[in-house]
Amino acid sequence: MVLDNLGSSLRGTLDQLQGKSRLDEEDVDAVVKEIQRSLIGADVDISLVQDLSDSIRQRALDEEPPAGTTARDHVLKIVYEEMVALVGDSTELPLESQTILLAGLQGSGKTTSAAKMAWWFSTKGLRPAVIQTDTFRPGAYEQSKQMCERAEVDFYGDPDEEDPVEIVRKGFEETQEADIRIVDTSGRSGLNEELIEELKEIEGFATPDRNLLVLDAAIGQGAKDQARAFGDAVGIDGVVITKLDGTAKGGGALAAVNETDSTIAFLGTGETVQDIERFEPNGFISRLLG
Ligand code: GDP
Repeated sequence: MVLDNLGSSLRGTLDQLQGKSRLDEEDVDAVVKEIQRSLIGADVDISLVQDLSDSIRQRALDEEPPAGTTARDHVLKIVYEEMVALVGDSTELPLESQTILLAGLQGSGKTTSAAKMAWWFSTKGLRPAVIQTDTFRPGAYEQSKQMCERAEVDFYGDPDEEDPVEIVRKGFEETQEADIRIVDTSGRSGLNEELIEELKEIEGFATPDRNLLVLDAAIGQGAKDQARAFGDAVGIDGVVITKLDGTAKGGGALAAVNETDSTIAFLGTGETVQDIERFEPNGFISRLLG
């Protein structure tokens, strides 16, 4: 069992079950209540918390612990399995030629994540290039260029071109030696028609292999609506959660994963190009429950 970083109050509740061979409803409720407290504190959508609670409760009461397993270990196993089902596996990212499109609102961390992901692919022996199509946010071109220099990856952008589709067209021409093309797109401060239309045009032209939605770890209830809008527009295959080096635990993003029927691809853990991790369920679960 790989739930090593349990929060102290959940661990305490579980430890009270030590020595028991069967669980009664009160025991299960105590465990479920602790989990709910942690997950709601981590911004996990309330209906997801409810579904998870129901599954844990039902299984913990219905399933007999296998011979030799204590009630504590049995419920812990169920909690772990249900948490794995909630957070999902890591988005599949074959180490081969592909185009990845990044979508998200302004400030979510797209530009930073584009350079970080390019750096990550370069550590796997591939040749990535970032194509910067954000013609909306002043400074995006310069920021992206500098980060790509730091990451030592190819970069294409054109601060004098206003049409993002034209940038993608030229960008593809200019980065023919690259294996991985990461197309960064512009965001807006909120969801609007212009953003969605622009994104659809870029997507239609670039025909990416994967569309990733970039979300700030601090996103709360807004995740669902954002995910639905981006999902309806272009389809979302995976989520990148940024700013996990802050206090937010990123549980809000699970609503987006659920809404788009996708998975989590990467976690952003700082401002430099190396501050990126591939999503891995166990660490994320421990963080949510911690
Ligand atoms: P964009 O508008 O979506 O392209 O967002 P940016 O990439 O410009 O990021 C917005 C701000 O968040 C910038 O100040 C970034 O340095 C910061 N940022 C992005 N990712 C992370 C992260 O993982 N951790 C921290 N601490 N800051 C981040």
